[in-house]
Amino acid sequence: MAARKTYKTRGIVLRHTPIGEADRVLTIFTPELGKVRAAARGVRRITSKLAGHLEPLTYVSVSISRGRTLDVISDAQIVRSFVRLREDLSRMSSASYLAELADAFSTEREPNPEMFQLLIGCLEALESTAEPTRLLRWFEVRTLDTAGFRPELYECIECRLRLEPGDYVYSSARGGALCHQCKTLSVDPVLPLSLGANKALRYYLRRTLADSLDLEVPAPILMEAGRLTRAYIRYVLERDLKSIDLMDIVAG
Ligand SMILES: [Zn+2]
Repeated sequence: MAARKTYKTRGIVLRHTPIGEADRVLTIFTPELGKVRAAARGVRRITSKLAGHLEPLTYVSVSISRGRTLDVISDAQIVRSFVRLREDLSRMSSASYLAELADAFSTEREPNPEMFQLLIGCLEALESTAEPTRLLRWFEVRTLDTAGFRPELYECIECRLRLEPGDYVYSSARGGALCHQCKTLSVDPVLPLSLGANKALRYYLRRTLADSLDLEVPAPILMEAGRLTRAYIRYVLERDLKSIDLMDIVAG
């Protein structure tokens, strides 16, 4: 049987990068193929048929031709445009952050249906939620968990002592909470992990997005939890995410 020259897939456009005079290389996150990189020829020309279908954060169905160095998109149809995410800068910046996280924690050509479900579920919910902070926290911890970096919040990561309800600290380098004893011995920087923030993060790790959006959490607790998840993500990725700055500016 001859090798297939063209394949079809569906996925969310995570980003695009200009190449040449009129082309772009797109990174598309698909459930069954993982991240796929493919060129869209001529999309930066206003006459391009593909152009409007391949914007970042669009859920698309694409036909892709195998190329020697880079695959090429031959056809694209919009499955869902997430238009409401584009209407509002706050939603747009949050959605860009989700896409950047999904990009950072996934691999090319490695199927990751779980991460895909997290992303598409959160993009859908983000269109209708007025207050995205809980959604962002949920996505952060679930992405970390899916990628194999589940934060340890029940036991001391060092001595495995079961943590009684109380305030502790969190070590990004160790990937978990430290008991009072181990905290004094730790040479790594630590962050506060109050009982409230710990409860919220545990809840997000166990419960659905819908449940987590319903649970009222005081703003200072969400902020503390966010400092922790972001620091941990930064430690794991060994870099800052570009979309964070815009999100913080928009959030004021
Ligand atoms: Zn300990």
